[in-house]
Order: sequence, then structure tokens, then C-alpha cells
Amino acid sequence: MAQEEVYDVIVLGGGPVGLFATYYAGFRGMSVKLIEATEDLGGQISLLYPDKYIYDMPGFYESVGSEIVKSLVMQARRYDPAVCLGEKALSVSRLAGQKFEVVTDRGRHFARSIIICTGIGAFTPNKVEAVGIPQFEGKGVFYYVKDPARFKGRKLLIVGGGDTAVDWALHLKDVASSVTLIHRREVFRAHEKSVEALSRSNVTLKLFCVLKEVKGTDWARRAVITNVQTNADEEMDVDDVLVLVGYKADLSIVKQWGLAMDARGILVDDMLETNVPGIFAAGDVASPKAGFRQNLLVVGFGQAATAANRVKKLLDPAASTFEHSTLREPTSKAASPPEATVR
Ligand SMILES: Cc1cc2nc3c(=O)[nH]c(=O)nc-3n(C[C@H](O)[C@H](O)[C@H](O)COP(=O)(O)OP(=O)(O)OC[C@H]3O[C@@H](n4cnc5c(N)ncnc54)[C@H](O)[C@@H]3O)c2cc1C
Repeated sequence: MAQEEVYDVIVLGGGPVGLFATYYAGFRGMSVKLIEATEDLGGQISLLYPDKYIYDMPGFYESVGSEIVKSLVMQARRYDPAVCLGEKALSVSRLAGQKFEVVTDRGRHFARSIIICTGIGAFTPNKVEAVGIPQFEGKGVFYYVKDPARFKGRKLLIVGGGDTAVDWALHLKDVASSVTLIHRREVFRAHEKSVEALSRSNVTLKLFCVLKEVKGTDWARRAVITNVQTNADEEMDVDDVLVLVGYKADLSIVKQWGLAMDARGILVDDMLETNVPGIFAAGDVASPKAGFRQNLLVVGFGQAATAANRVKKLLDPAASTFEHSTLREPTSKAASPPEATVR
């Protein structure tokens, strides 16, 4: 679809809340464009905990993160939204009349309203200072686990002592041929039960150790680690190095959009509207003026529905405040959801 087309709603951010906002706006009969900065939908779930169980999703006794994302994506696509992946929103502004412009790093988009669901912002992994790291990024040095099967039968070195590092060490110990985890301290930041499981597992633990150097030709093949207590170096064979020392979430872009904010995010009223009429915020990025912020999926989903219902009333004052989904004719898209338009 042409970028000049004016959609009823632009949803910024394809995390869980943005996906549900996309579905809900479509369900309310509005045309929707979803813009996501990364190449993947699912936000924090896809990036930080795709294989973790989630227990507080209503109606699901337990469910793995990636399965929840899969369902959310399928649901979001039900009413055929336009989806732009790998496109970061740089600014939002109100034009004359009920028209808004979103400028991204790839173009301009127009809508009659905006629902901002950019979560805790754009993620960047923390890096470690070790010789060779920049050279081998993507060639044996990784900051995310997108596909655990990718590490099957490989000698894996994991760097980190938080939940992400420990959870992945536990997960990959039965996938990789060997897993060594190095941590610069003795005490882990990870959950106590995970650390106990780690100490009972076949993962080789090297405490007080930091990564000093990664060596190889086309791919990382050797790693040098240093014991910070003794200053002794040790060199080991590796097939891959996973650096899992946390992420920085950066809200700085959103801060430039001229919306009223507090330290926690964009200030919203009961209807999730920001100080600019027609621009809404939901999920982790929203900071309710009344009550308190809860960075939970279930809260974000409720906010997404409220914001979409409010947008519907704004664009069509004669519309009902809300609808039951059973009032809508089921579409064949449920069984076989159409591919969304991806520019
Ligand atoms: C380890 C961990 C475990 C968790 N476990 C649970 C749990 O068990 N239950 C629970 O309810 N909650 C849990 N949470 C919290 C939950 O994941 C968040 O509340 C939820 O992800 C918020 O969704 P969101 O869509 O608002 O934001 P996010 O998931 O942060 O998604 C925001 C999306 O917006 C995109 N984006 C950012 N900036 C831009 C931009 N400028 N332009 C375009 N796109 C942009 C990002 O790339 C991202 O995809 C957990 C969080 C973590 C970190």
C-alpha cells in the first residue's frame, strides 16, 4: 500500500501490546498500519524470553513465550493490517485536522490516530570489552538466542551471570555438545533456583572469569578468558560465544516526540490518551496519571483494547463504546490468517 494512504490507526511497536492493539483496532473496523523497529514481532517476549513459560496469561495454564507471540501475530493479522518491519519511528506529529504523521528511518506514514506501544524502548545488548569481539559479531559471537537448535552439537561459551545467561546455559546444556559459563563474580544475579540447577548441571562453571579475547579466521574458534583473582589466562576451543550481560532499553527517541512524560513513560489519562488528542499510548511505555504503572502483559492488553475503543469513538462518534467479538462474523482468516503486507 502507498505510504500516502491515511490509515485510521498507526500502531507504533510490534511487541505483545502493539500486536493486540493492531488486532483490536481491526476488530473495531478500522484500517491499521503497524510499524516495528526490529525485523521481529513480539517485543520483549521474542527478544528476552522466547522459551520461558508464562503462567499469568488469562485462559492459559502455562504457555511458552514464543507460542504466545505466534498466537498474537496470527490474531493481529486477522483484519489484514499493513505491517512495516525493520522501520524505526523517529517522530510523530499532528498535522491540520484529524491527521497525524509518523516519520521513520525509511519514510513517512499518515493516520487519523496513533497508538504508541513502544514498550521500554529500543533494545541494545550490553557488550563486553574483549579483543576480537567486533570482528566476530554474527560470526560466532552472538547477543541473542533466536533459534536454540542453531547451537546443536556445538562448543558454547556463555558470558554472564544474570537470568538470561543462566537460563540459556540450562536450556542449551542438552543441545550444545558442551556449555561453559563464565561470570566475573562468585554471586549470580540470576534466580536462586536457576543457580542451584546450574550448579547441579553438566555446565562447566568458571567464576571470577572475564572474556579477554576471541580468536579465529572467518569464525570465532578460540576464546581467552582471564581469572580476575589470579590474573591467569586460559585459552579454550569454542564454536560460538554468547554474550548475555544484559540489555539497555532506550526511550530517548520517544522523549523527543514532544509528548508529556514522567520518569516512567508517556503520561496517559484513563482512556490512554496522551496530552496530544488523538495520540494514545499503551503497554510498558504508558505511565497512567492516575493509579500506578504495572509492566504486565495482561494490563497492556486491557490498555490496548481501551485505547482502540476510544479511537473508534473519536473517529466515529456514532459507534458503540465497545463490541463483543461474537457480534462480528467469523472470517476464514482465523483458520488461515493472511500474510500481512510487509513493505
Ligand atoms: C524476562 C522478562 C520476563 C517477563 N515475564 C512476564 C510474565 O511472566 N508476565 C507478564 O505479564 N509480563 C512479563 N514480563 C513483562 C512483559 O514482557 C512486558 O510487560 C511486555 O513485553 C510489554 O509489552 P509492550 O508491547 O508494551 O512492549 P515491548 O514488549 O517492549 O515491545 C515494544 C516494541 O516496540 C518496538 N519499538 C520500540 N521503539 C520503537 C520505535 N521507535 N519505532 C518502532 N518500534 C519501536 C520494540 O522493538 C518492541 O518490539 C516480562 C519481562 C521480562 C523482561
